[in-house]
Amino acid sequence: MTQTTTATLQKQHLIDPEICIRCGTCEATCTVGAVSHDDRNYVVDPEKCNACLDCIAPCPTGSIDNWRIVATPYAVAEQLEWMELPAQQALGAAGISLSEASEGEVGALIEAAHAGGGGRAVAPASATRPVVNLYARSNPAIATVQGNFRITAPTAESDVRHIVLSFGEAAFPILEGQSIGVLPPVTDPDGRPYPLRLYSVASARDGEKRNANNIALTVKRVPGGLVSEWLCNLKVGARIAVTGPFGSTFLAPDDPRANILMICTGTGSAPFRAFTERRRRSAPAAVGRMIMFFGARTPEELPYFGPLQKVPARLLEQHLVFSRVEGQPKEYVQDRMRANALGLAPLLADATTHVFICGLKGMEEGVDAALAEIASGAGIDWAALKPRMRGEGRYHVETY
Ligand code: NAP
Repeated sequence: MTQTTTATLQKQHLIDPEICIRCGTCEATCTVGAVSHDDRNYVVDPEKCNACLDCIAPCPTGSIDNWRIVATPYAVAEQLEWMELPAQQALGAAGISLSEASEGEVGALIEAAHAGGGGRAVAPASATRPVVNLYARSNPAIATVQGNFRITAPTAESDVRHIVLSFGEAAFPILEGQSIGVLPPVTDPDGRPYPLRLYSVASARDGEKRNANNIALTVKRVPGGLVSEWLCNLKVGARIAVTGPFGSTFLAPDDPRANILMICTGTGSAPFRAFTERRRRSAPAAVGRMIMFFGARTPEELPYFGPLQKVPARLLEQHLVFSRVEGQPKEYVQDRMRANALGLAPLLADATTHVFICGLKGMEEGVDAALAEIASGAGIDWAALKPRMRGEGRYHVETY
């Protein structure tokens, strides 16, 4: 991803005219006069809205809680004409790429990663409300490295690290599924700062060590990759600048009845380590099941292979899938899912099931096809179920 950023994006607050019942609570709640109305629509003035979110909770319908990532905000006059909200425009059209993103665009990029499979991402109904954008490039949090451990086998080709960062006295409230930005202290050959790198938190909200105000990241060393080399070489005691937290929809459901189906490749397992640890700490006897399909080239290359062996099956049902084990046929997560169709179909039919997909962009299509096939085998119309699950905050994708 080397495309140059050609536009500055912003998150625009909008009201859904189809759902709004015109009760006026948003206008009455807004302290900056951003909400107004005519006899057709209630609208938000992008010049005035400060995204304080005061208006969100009082709205009885949820019509107020709508957002679009835009290069040019929709004007009030335009919004007053709407019969329905416009669809989210494709960000590619704005020329934005992850590696070149400035911190102002990170939220948009996270949303784009979460839009995989189409449609608008919605947080699980029982997820805790996240804090986002507390720290930016201009006022980063300073974290101290507490640990940096290799979590692929010494014989593995890839060096994946488990990096523990302490925030000391600084507040850094983060939920499982959210990401942070890491600001490299190096400049490119032209003297410009390198763009931040995004990593999902791999630890639970109360810390890698409980109540220690620290987090863990899963970082793969990319040979020749300046930033990943720098991160993977950090010594205990090093101090680094961090932004975030980012992400407001790819979040762990707090409801212990929720079944959580997690499908990942490689370092895409990071958020699922966080989800698992959260459930182990908050609801170890939960009735909801946690099932993971996790793909890597070999057991040696699979991040956290050793620690995963110690996670009890009653907490986490594991399907570790390998694509390059000598003498064995190549297997991807979607192949193993198909092989477990009989077990997965009832889960898809269960209204408490949440699906999370994280990892390589390329896996998305294959996993979707497998889910469609599994559903169809059980007489379920996946084309109808997927958007319903997404709308209910039960279908989540984070792929890069
Ligand atoms: P990887 O080692 O390159 O691949 C892991 C496994 O996925 C391999 O077995 C690979 O098989 C297989 N695979 C390749 N194409 C596939 C496909 N189309 N469908 C299913 N499986 C496929 O993975 P990685 O380098 O760790 O990459 C993980 C991804 O997760 C990255 O894109 C990263 O940006 C993303 N991610 C990372 C984080 C984080 O916090 N670090 C968070 C979220 C997402 P073969 O190689 O044998 O084909």
